[in-house]
Amino acid sequence: MTLKQALSQAKRVLAANNIEDASLEGELLLRHVLKISRVQLYLDLDQELTSQQETDFWDTISRRLSGEPTAYITGHREFYGLDFYINSNALIPRPESELLVEKVLHLAQHHSISTIADVGTGCGAIAISLALNLPQVKIYATDISAPALEVAAMNCQRHRVAQRIQLLPGDMLEPLPEPVDLIVTNLPYVKYSELHPSADFEPVLALNGGSDGLEKIRQLCRQVSNKLHPEGYLLLEMGQGQSEAVTTLLHSLFPQAEIEVTPDLSGIDRVVSLTLTSGR
Ligand code: GLN
Repeated sequence: MTLKQALSQAKRVLAANNIEDASLEGELLLRHVLKISRVQLYLDLDQELTSQQETDFWDTISRRLSGEPTAYITGHREFYGLDFYINSNALIPRPESELLVEKVLHLAQHHSISTIADVGTGCGAIAISLALNLPQVKIYATDISAPALEVAAMNCQRHRVAQRIQLLPGDMLEPLPEPVDLIVTNLPYVKYSELHPSADFEPVLALNGGSDGLEKIRQLCRQVSNKLHPEGYLLLEMGQGQSEAVTTLLHSLFPQAEIEVTPDLSGIDRVVSLTLTSGR
């Protein structure tokens, strides 16, 4: 069987099992088995697979069909144009979280921001994307999960920002040694009753937002005053339908603050940005 034939069969099987992006996922899995780049894959389309390669490839396809995410099978996930190491101790970074990075970079262009905390950093994708784009900024990244922080540490090494990002084990803002200018966070916000099938593979700790999905977000918002400078910024990712509850909460906690909601590419309100003013 040639690479081309393997790809088209894989695409058919994946699509028939309702896997979105069947063709991309098939490609990622085949490249993983063959350990080749995308360019090489396209150059080698007419090459034959060895029987061992064929077996290995169909093994990865059957793991995928049993629900295991491609990123855990390959150990890779792209986020903000960067390649991250990933394993099942950390949530797989989602494309919609790139909006958080964009919002922070935009703010940093127009305001002086010298310290940032990424709360619940997981594999470190947000903190590292920020570190690479904001070379002057000092970044703290916290996570309550020690195994997740190990994944973040590997990614900091991979992207050579281990000196710039301080990884701190602990709950939310507790481990921060000083108040910062900006807090950015993608906390767990999925309702417990709505945890999706990928929660069989991804850490539930990173997804479970309690009975209404907002338990963690509420907890963080209440801690913010002690750990954010008086004119600091808080940027939160949230889920579909949570915008009103989150903005109402923030208005009640910070009546003077400015609050902005930004939709993602699918039009879902995804990021809330809070700007504290001196009066709070
Ligand atoms: N966006 C993720 C999902 O729906 C949830 C991530 C989170 O809880 N922070 O799978």
